[in-house]
Amino acid sequence: MLTVNAYAAPSATEPLGPTTIQRRDLGPHDVLIDIAYAGICHSDIHTVRGHWGPITYPQVVGHEIVGFVREIGSEVTKHTVGDRVGVGCESNSCGHCEQCRKGEEVYCLNTAVQTYAAEDYDGTITQGGYSQAIVVNENFVLRVPESLPLEKVAPLLCAGITLYSPLKHWNAGPGTKVAVVGMGGLGHVGVKLAHALGAEVTVLSQSLSKEEDGKRFGADHYYATSDPETFEKLAGEFDLVLNTVSAKLDIARYVNLLAVDGTLVLLGAPSENISLPAMPLIGGRRSISGSANGGIPITQKMLDFCAEHDVLPETELIDADQINEAYERVLSSDVRYRFVIDAKSFA
Ligand code: NAP
Ligand code: ZN
Repeated sequence: MLTVNAYAAPSATEPLGPTTIQRRDLGPHDVLIDIAYAGICHSDIHTVRGHWGPITYPQVVGHEIVGFVREIGSEVTKHTVGDRVGVGCESNSCGHCEQCRKGEEVYCLNTAVQTYAAEDYDGTITQGGYSQAIVVNENFVLRVPESLPLEKVAPLLCAGITLYSPLKHWNAGPGTKVAVVGMGGLGHVGVKLAHALGAEVTVLSQSLSKEEDGKRFGADHYYATSDPETFEKLAGEFDLVLNTVSAKLDIARYVNLLAVDGTLVLLGAPSENISLPAMPLIGGRRSISGSANGGIPITQKMLDFCAEHDVLPETELIDADQINEAYERVLSSDVRYRFVIDAKSFA
């Protein structure tokens, strides 16, 4: 076992603080990664604060992980010592169900093991990326293209793939109109990706305060959802609406923004249930769907796409002792646009 420094939540109500955790001995297919940077996702906050139900404490979160391979197990073939690599939201799955065989590990029909706060197949509770090092099966380790600067790239491992996957699934590209609701960590990468794919992109944010940024990221249009006229003006407009908002929204208002055959995809994951009137869906043959981050093959494609099209998250680098303050800023939508922890500060 390897003992490493980390930052953990001791309970749902206390601040995160320094601790040490154990990483398992390398199995034949395991890779030991020295973590360089870890992004802060709103899901980390939902998890440690118990928004999605009880978890086991102390808990280390973080599923936007990049670093360098320090050591490989005896049968590892996909990665070698010194490689620049990343780990995202899942770190294991059954490997043999229909979804795993298709490379859709995130939808594993048995258990897609989350990188943190989940029971792994060996019975241990997974501990995430707010730490110095991690041990992960080689199949869940991504290659980070050389041209992507490591200190910026971590948020692609969750925010990036969570937007890239639905954009590809619903064929966003030239001639399609995409709306991104909420321009935080997920949303701002979504704007950049949708633009790079050639779609016409609209941001729907609470206010116009980030309009200049949104346009710089590639948005063609930018509207405030606090203005009721926005919903009248944009009725029936979009082929795809990607909701990245972390809080409960009146989803019915966004269904009305869909064109005939349009799809509203739920990405933001507040704990509250949503309610929907049937007629706006029926009347426009509109769909509503959810989407989870993405399988390993498409995550690799997303990283390669970002390298090719120069898509990079906007990040603010912090030290471990600033994590709690960063959480408060994320909760008040004061994030520009993703906090990334410098893992040197865990030392
Ligand atoms: P984030 O950085 O906090 O961004 C969320 C954005 O939502 C905010 O920046 C804000 O954008 C908007 N917002 C926040 N509160 C709002 C409210 N009360 N009403 C209207 N808009 C509000 O969070 P994130 O890291 O992007 O994550 C967003 C959500 O996606 C979280 O629930 C997270 O758990 C979930 N998530 C899901 C997946 C998946 O696989 N589906 C993956 C990762 C994360 P504006 O200021 O522009 O309005
Ligand atoms: Zn995430």
